[in-house]
Amino acid sequence: MIDAQTLLYGVIGNPVKHSLSPIIHNAAFERMGFNAAYLAFEVNDLIGTLNGIRGLGISGVSVTIPFKTQVIPLLDQVEDIARKIQAVNTIKNEEGRLVGYNTDWCGAVEALEEKVDLKGKKVLLLGAGGSARAIGFGLKEKGSQVIISNRSSDKANELAKNLGFVCKPLLSMSELEFDVIINATTVGMSPHHAESPLPKIFLKEGVVVMDIVYQPLKTKLLQEAEERGCRTIDGLEMLVHQGMAQIEIWTGRRPDIGQIKEGLRSVLDKEIRGER
Ligand code: NDP
Repeated sequence: MIDAQTLLYGVIGNPVKHSLSPIIHNAAFERMGFNAAYLAFEVNDLIGTLNGIRGLGISGVSVTIPFKTQVIPLLDQVEDIARKIQAVNTIKNEEGRLVGYNTDWCGAVEALEEKVDLKGKKVLLLGAGGSARAIGFGLKEKGSQVIISNRSSDKANELAKNLGFVCKPLLSMSELEFDVIINATTVGMSPHHAESPLPKIFLKEGVVVMDIVYQPLKTKLLQEAEERGCRTIDGLEMLVHQGMAQIEIWTGRRPDIGQIKEGLRSVLDKEIRGER
């Protein structure tokens, strides 16, 4: 029940009307018995919003598109990893001081490590946008051998150079063997759900295939990967893991991810398909 002790959290972004974060975070708070509420704030004035967080004593916020990089110079402190990735997706209000963190990288790594130990593994990372940068950083931390491929080769080059990885055009790699393939592009996202970012030839039995797109949950890539005997990980996994890492930063407590994921999967599936 909301009362005078209830702590307030939220997500700031634009647009955020279709964000799944309020469902995920409120479900977690309820399971933890934590007296807090989480709302979506569609923001036009970022500086005003940060002052509002300080002024009202909002305890913490998630940050999403388009503010993950813009917010960095406006914070009182930014943890090293978020600064390296050049993206903050989590802000904690520490008695009026706003501190920025990034949990996208560890959300992706934790979701992957439920299926595979990443150390030394050969990974194909598709994409060179914001999420690819965070995931690439996580893979580097874990000691994976990564090849990056992206539609715009200049961006792939830059990311590969920053992280000490290799980049190659996709079609030049069909003979190579990978342990893990990750889609961090928007290809396959609704309304383009009939598209896959990857020719089927890459989908060999036993390969771990993660798609971070979560609209729909079962993308064309994951359908094809399943048909070919790959081990698949959908976008909900990273989403929930990065969200639970945010709650740990804010509260010092780690929610039980297994319980929360199961409770959420059917609710989120309906939400994504617009049936709620
Ligand atoms: P960005 O806009 O930063 O990057 C988009 C990437 O997709 C770029 O590499 C871009 O290539 C590539 N791309 C876009 N269109 C095409 C196309 N037609 N063909 C080939 N490549 C294309 O997006 P984000 O990194 O923020 O998000 C990517 C996806 O990840 C989104 O679907 C988002 O919803 C999802 N996401 C999921 C999360 C989760 O927790 N599951 C967390 C964050 C994001 P180019 O450089 O050439 O433009």
